[in-house]
Amino acid sequence: MKKPFIIAGPCSAETEEQTIATCEALAATGRVDMLRAGVWKPRTKPGSFEGNGIKALPWLAEAKRRTGLPVSTEVANAKHVDEASAFDVDMFWIGARTTSSPFSMQELAEALRGTDRWVYVKNPLNSDIELWVGAVERLAACGVKNIGLIHRGFSGYGAGALRNAPMWHLALEIRRRLPDLPMLCDPSHICGNRAYIADISQQAADLDFDGLIVESHLSPEAAWSDASQQLTPADLKAMLEGIVWRENGSQSVAYQNALDELRGRIDRLDSEIYKLLAERMNAAEQIGRIKRDNNVMILQSARWNDIVENVLSLSSKLGLSEEFLHTLLDAIHIESINRQNRVMREKK
Ligand code: PEP
Ligand code: MN
Repeated sequence: MKKPFIIAGPCSAETEEQTIATCEALAATGRVDMLRAGVWKPRTKPGSFEGNGIKALPWLAEAKRRTGLPVSTEVANAKHVDEASAFDVDMFWIGARTTSSPFSMQELAEALRGTDRWVYVKNPLNSDIELWVGAVERLAACGVKNIGLIHRGFSGYGAGALRNAPMWHLALEIRRRLPDLPMLCDPSHICGNRAYIADISQQAADLDFDGLIVESHLSPEAAWSDASQQLTPADLKAMLEGIVWRENGSQSVAYQNALDELRGRIDRLDSEIYKLLAERMNAAEQIGRIKRDNNVMILQSARWNDIVENVLSLSSKLGLSEEFLHTLLDAIHIESINRQNRVMREKK
């Protein structure tokens, strides 16, 4: 597969004219390898535009004929698979909501049995990597040969700047588990806002993704779905031209030496960090014993608040973000409480 592999197209196939004109404009950029358009749209709330359904499939077929580019659409049930197959859609993607449902995944896997079309599986809405792997396993068990992954971010609690948190470590973890599957990033659904798309796409390139699937619309503000995250074909072209897809590795001796030296330093530092963490947990456990023997409860929020404040006040001096320190503190706190809980349950 060409790398980077770029898929682009409107969130939804709204009208015949919009679908074909957008696809032609995208093909003319010379930067797009496959077209996308949603025909069946899973919407959070009823009453939003839910796609044109089968009526839109000939529009995709016509866009393919005119541009010579393969086309893709989302499928969520066996009927979608049969109808899209009849119109020779080249790639199906499975949406985040569908990946989240084992029943739907099983139905799809059976409908796709033995297909040699590409099937890309988006991550589920929640940050459950097992559900994502499970969806891939269901397809593989039904003999689907060409499977890929799409990372579209995870929905979270509270409104951050991004619509769906990238949680890049989960994308890297699934790549570690399924190293042979191509993995694309969907910056449109991660961002929810076109202003951030270039930045997220560059991060995906730097994390060795195989390509992108990006939403593009001739007049984004007027789009029937996902208006705030779509780019015009011209803006998409400029965005793609700005991304640097760096080399995966270099054979030069100087490069290897510099890398080996730094990796050695990281390994030494890591082993110190974990030894220190173990010592810290042992101290917490001893405190737990003292609390137990004196009938004092585990959680002493004033003390924990002091620790948090002390650490956060070092944030700028250490050059470590408050967000990172919070995550680290939470992990340490959870483990300390677990250790002290265990001690509390021990017989004196
Ligand atoms: C889409 O690609 O238009 C879509 C609905 O995406 P997701 O399943 O990632 O929300
Ligand atoms: Mn969309």
